[in-house]
Amino acid sequence: MTLFDIIRERIRQSGPMDIAAYMDLCLTHPEYGYYMRKDPLGPDGDFTTAPEISQMFGELIGAWCADIWIKLGRPSSFVLAECGPGRGTLMADALRVTAKVQGFHEAAQLVLMETSPFLKEKQRQVLSSFAPTWCKSLSAVQGNDPLVLIANEFLDALPVRQAVFSSGVWRERVIDTDPAGMLSFKAGEEIDARGFPSGREGDIFEYAPAREGLMRDLGKILTAQKGAALFLDYGHMATAAGDTLQAVKNHKFTSVLDEPGVADLTSHVDFEAAGKSAQSAGAVIYGPVTQRDFLLRLGIRERAAALGNTETVVAALERLTGKDQMGLLFKVMALCHDKRVVPEGF
Ligand code: SAH
Repeated sequence: MTLFDIIRERIRQSGPMDIAAYMDLCLTHPEYGYYMRKDPLGPDGDFTTAPEISQMFGELIGAWCADIWIKLGRPSSFVLAECGPGRGTLMADALRVTAKVQGFHEAAQLVLMETSPFLKEKQRQVLSSFAPTWCKSLSAVQGNDPLVLIANEFLDALPVRQAVFSSGVWRERVIDTDPAGMLSFKAGEEIDARGFPSGREGDIFEYAPAREGLMRDLGKILTAQKGAALFLDYGHMATAAGDTLQAVKNHKFTSVLDEPGVADLTSHVDFEAAGKSAQSAGAVIYGPVTQRDFLLRLGIRERAAALGNTETVVAALERLTGKDQMGLLFKVMALCHDKRVVPEGF
């Protein structure tokens, strides 16, 4: 049995499935889902992320968190949360630099939201001295304490739906089996397209109820408990039509439909839509700005110099901020409970 068989069987029984249902199965099916099978990160995995490239990334984000905590009035207890912490590298680097910030570690309760058992084990290894707890949804950070939340390359992994403009209307883009028994895309039922841009035949438009729901929930939590959240991801500043669904395996793009559960599936984040959802729940939005601007404003050049500007450090600096590298593709957005808390970097 493979995930391919399971998906075909499900389509046979219940009809074509939308892209989000497909993505959800590919990534988190309890047995065959991509994140259930292996550690996806690093040179031997399928992709590399900013914290795995250089310690500077996590260090600057640690400084960002400490600055927010100070601006919140140094609460004696707060939740320090990360969504999709990967190997725990970002948080470990962040906590190393914040050890110098008096009172910060004592006040922080570390909460990690993670779906992968492999990555959870890695996180346990590197973060055990901070006694983290793990959760699968934001409800775990709800309570009375202020929240400082970070997430790098997390929103791109949440399921996205697609609409395709076909015969004059927006329709749900779905996955069906073709006569040869392979998976193929097709235009499904007409959908409620309020808020969608105008389309031309064949256009694709992505919308992400899971992402927007999370941003709304987070907006509510922040306004109730105070605090801030920081999201870094590849994506676009403004809502626009386009197909950004991508499959990556062994550091190369591959077909979205060929090997369900074997390749990583993500889509670019629509930061305008994400921001609007958080604002609708009362949060104040900063950015999006490019990762390049954000890291330069936080002082990544100065940090690189402090690390001796070695060849490795300079190469990492270029990879994280270079205009043709991650610098412009990646965007950064913050949410705060109040406009008097002004985060750094925007
Ligand atoms: N932030 C890390 C890892 C990015 S990969 C880094 O920058 O290196 C995406 C991360 O999100 C992984 O840890 C993955 O297991 C996790 N993830 C994906 N979907 C998730 C979900 N629905 N709930 C919780 N974690 C999820």
